[in-house]
Amino acid sequence: MTFDLTPEQDQLRDAVRALGRRYGHGYFVEKAKAGEHTTELWAEAGRLGYLGVNIPTEYGGGGGGITDLAIVCEELAAAGCPLLLLVVSPAIAATVLTRHGTEEQRKRHLPGLADGSQKIVFAITEPEAGSNFHRLGTVARRDGDGWLLNGRKCYISGVDEAGHVLVVARTEDAGTGKLKPALFLVPTDAAGLTRSKLDMEIVSPENQFLLYLDDVRVPADALLGESLDAGLPALFAGLNPERITVAAMGAGTGRYAIERASEYTATRKVWGGRSIGSHQGVSHPLAHAAVQVELARLMIQKAATLYDAGRDLEAGVSGNMAKYAAGEAAALAVDTAVQVLGGAGMTTEYGVATLLGAVRAGRIAPVSREMILNFVAQHVLGQEKSY
Ligand SMILES: Cc1cc2nc3c(=O)[nH]c(=O)nc-3n(C[C@H](O)[C@H](O)[C@H](O)COP(=O)(O)OP(=O)(O)OC[C@H]3O[C@@H](n4cnc5c(N)ncnc54)[C@H](O)[C@@H]3O)c2cc1C
Repeated sequence: MTFDLTPEQDQLRDAVRALGRRYGHGYFVEKAKAGEHTTELWAEAGRLGYLGVNIPTEYGGGGGGITDLAIVCEELAAAGCPLLLLVVSPAIAATVLTRHGTEEQRKRHLPGLADGSQKIVFAITEPEAGSNFHRLGTVARRDGDGWLLNGRKCYISGVDEAGHVLVVARTEDAGTGKLKPALFLVPTDAAGLTRSKLDMEIVSPENQFLLYLDDVRVPADALLGESLDAGLPALFAGLNPERITVAAMGAGTGRYAIERASEYTATRKVWGGRSIGSHQGVSHPLAHAAVQVELARLMIQKAATLYDAGRDLEAGVSGNMAKYAAGEAAALAVDTAVQVLGGAGMTTEYGVATLLGAVRAGRIAPVSREMILNFVAQHVLGQEKSY
């Protein structure tokens, strides 16, 4: 393992950082408060090729890996623009399509994901099932040559911005009668698919929705992959990219908060000529948060390197650990930044308290810290499953 990025990845980092800084956190907050989306930033990032860095070149992407996409997620977040839909559309949907979609599905969807003109969001969470995906109740039944989908989904991000939603449902195995997972590419304007926006305490231009699927009829080719057997591996294919990119977004947000705070504490003077940052009660918590963010970045780099080397099982452990570490580090960094800024920390102008909701959510979604600890306890420490 090397700690050096390739020259291309270095260039990518610099270029994305420059793009992010041109928009900045002020733009992100303004869009969120106006109930608008970061359409301009998304479109420009797409035009410049940053949204498709991990998509194969034959489908219009950059042909890189999750390391590259993690760089994009981290640098935009470090500029104050943590875009959750990067995790959903290019990380989850594009990976699932690339690895398990049919050639026809790849050709139809990947070029639009790569240039940012299309978004595909991801719907697995359900009100009754929660963290227990074995309880999924959304069912797909054969209907002539197509499928009929019924169920409920909750907290689904970005449905209002997407052309399709990748719905995780269950189908009845004709042989055994058992239900097994299957993924469907459902147009967001499909008849029978309705949504209602959830009021979330997160300052974000991206929204979460309840989705209602009532006899949503989709054609046979909406089923992701060549057959029903693609369902389970396709579901797992999205997990590592999701963990790694959401972790990168957390690390970037942590960097952003620490940078804002350090600038402030180095110049703010309230006791004679010394800056408040000269007091260790102020600088040590910031330094501690910086160490936690850097530790998380190392875990992210390890997980992305393992994933891009095709070592999925090891990447699964590292990706979960990286997600846990980054979620905790981001929450600590933003909370510390708010504290050392004093009253200014709670203003919109200084742009740190605006991230409190997002980093708090990062300890719950897309997988909670407790479910990661369960995973580590079971798969790394060999403990008995408790649930
Ligand atoms: C901002 C945001 C965006 C989201 N976007 C999406 C999206 O785009 N698509 C999507 O499908 N979902 C999305 N989600 C949903 C998210 O993935 C879930 O909220 C998350 O997986 C937790 O599920 P839950 O909310 O049902 O919590 P529950 O499963 O009800 O859990 C509640 C609490 O109990 C704990 N808990 C549960 N079981 C155990 C156990 N066995 N051991 C220990 N602790 C346990 C959990 O860790 C949690 O703290 C989003 C959520 C948020 C907040």
